[in-house]
Amino acid sequence: MHKSPLNTAPLRVLIIGAGFGGLGLAIQLQKAGIGDFLILEKGAQVGGTWRDNTYPGAACDVPSHLYSYSFEPKSDWSRKFAPQAEIFAYQQHCADKYGLLPQIRFNTEVASAEFDEAAGLWRVLTSDGETFSAQALVSACGQLNRPAYPRLPGMEQFRGEVFHSARWNHAYDLRGKRVAVVGTGASAIQFVPAIAPEVAQLHLFQRSAAYVIPKPDRAYKPWELAVMRRFPALQKVDRLLKYIQHESRVLAFSVFPSLMKVMRGAFARHLARGIADPQLRAKLTPDYPLGCKRILISNDYYPALARANVEVVNDGIREVTANGVVTEDGRERPVDAIIYGTGFAATDFLAPMHITGRGGLDLNQAWRAGAEAYLGISVSGFPNLFILYGPNTNLGHNSIIYMLESQFRYVVGCLRELRDQGLRAMELKPEVQRRFNQDLHKRVQHTVWEQGCTSWYKTAEGKNTNNWPGFTFTYRQYTRRPELADYECTR
Ligand SMILES: Cc1cc2nc3c(=O)[nH]c(=O)nc-3n(C[C@H](O)[C@H](O)[C@H](O)COP(=O)(O)OP(=O)(O)OC[C@H]3O[C@@H](n4cnc5c(N)ncnc54)[C@H](O)[C@@H]3O)c2cc1C
Repeated sequence: MHKSPLNTAPLRVLIIGAGFGGLGLAIQLQKAGIGDFLILEKGAQVGGTWRDNTYPGAACDVPSHLYSYSFEPKSDWSRKFAPQAEIFAYQQHCADKYGLLPQIRFNTEVASAEFDEAAGLWRVLTSDGETFSAQALVSACGQLNRPAYPRLPGMEQFRGEVFHSARWNHAYDLRGKRVAVVGTGASAIQFVPAIAPEVAQLHLFQRSAAYVIPKPDRAYKPWELAVMRRFPALQKVDRLLKYIQHESRVLAFSVFPSLMKVMRGAFARHLARGIADPQLRAKLTPDYPLGCKRILISNDYYPALARANVEVVNDGIREVTANGVVTEDGRERPVDAIIYGTGFAATDFLAPMHITGRGGLDLNQAWRAGAEAYLGISVSGFPNLFILYGPNTNLGHNSIIYMLESQFRYVVGCLRELRDQGLRAMELKPEVQRRFNQDLHKRVQHTVWEQGCTSWYKTAEGKNTNNWPGFTFTYRQYTRRPELADYECTR
């Protein structure tokens, strides 16, 4: 078994994952004078989402001035909504600028972690059999890290090319090919317009139509970039305005779902402009209330679907054969490639890792009725474990980086308490977690996500484990500093 010299002495903090969460927390730890940390990353580079999702057309859907760290503004984003390569380069720049690379172990996948009560340490085991230990363990694995595939009869017999949008095969030349795309979510609406002009035929298999509204995107003009470089404060103003604009949507999501009617008008006009054929328009009109699933933004999705070489298929898929895809009506569409744009195992959170807390408590077992935590960060029974982008901290309306920055502050606060108070462990009190989640799920009941649809925000049993049902500034308020009274502290 290969042992690294790094993994001998216990560390203060071990972070799992080097995406926006892990990198940002590491920078904040440095600023707080907590330099004794290590990031374990299963990939070969930093970036997480933006390292993995390299499909054609990949870009953020929150404006870049807002979808970037507040403490590391970038004045030269090429567009209002930057493409994947630029976001990935920005993450690499951050890792480089803050000197994080020596504190990241790449190609190191955490398989399990166990809290050793006697020693007050987390013992971490990697899939290669290496071990690490630290006082505190931070999961920064994200909610959208593990691709999800549908379970279609016969999938494994298909003899053509197959890949998931989050594992795009750039070596495969799609030009002139017959392609099946399964799924019509946030990724598919970005890559379908990018590949449609190249392929011979594209069959888009749609289980449920998405609400797609215009994307206020364009390239920045050279003079705008020059002005922003010269007056960095303008960027902050832009960030604030975008924040307010996005935040105001909570009123429709969580407070007054009836406000969604206004946005429905924007959707109907957008669909009518992009799709002339009334039959196709009917196929593309969702049968659930707007906002119940993620609202998508694109200017080229509907025009792409109106192309002669694109077919939208909304008969369910019966099976996949060696040569193609068969729908419920028995019709087979022969294809050369199948691309799954079917999203991620979003409700699984830290799985497939085995996390064992106090008294042998297994996290997957503790979460068998659906994941929950206090502020998405702390879980009773798991001392000194902190989760970034954890349960109920996803958003339908604003930047995840804003939520992550709130979490950085809270987690750094906890780590400071551990250090400054000389604590051995802090463990969330069960009643704090219970009260918080009772209140949270009461609020979830009044959101638009509960108006009769399935979505990746919910478990198969219908529990919304992913979304934050409120304003992000309220969340920031809650996470301003940890209250030691919420925790059982051991010295
Ligand atoms: C295509 C796409 C577009 C998106 N667009 C937006 C957007 O516009 N705006 C927005 O706010 N959000 C967006 N999101 C959500 C996005 O995931 C978050 O904004 C953010 O990138 C999450 O960062 P993270 O560090 O928490 O997780 P991730 O970026 O997922 O990083 C997690 C890291 O943990 C590593 N890891 C996981 N398990 C292990 C393990 N067992 N051992 C070691 N390492 C491990 C992974 O390899 C990965 O590097 C998008 C997501 C996707 C998939």
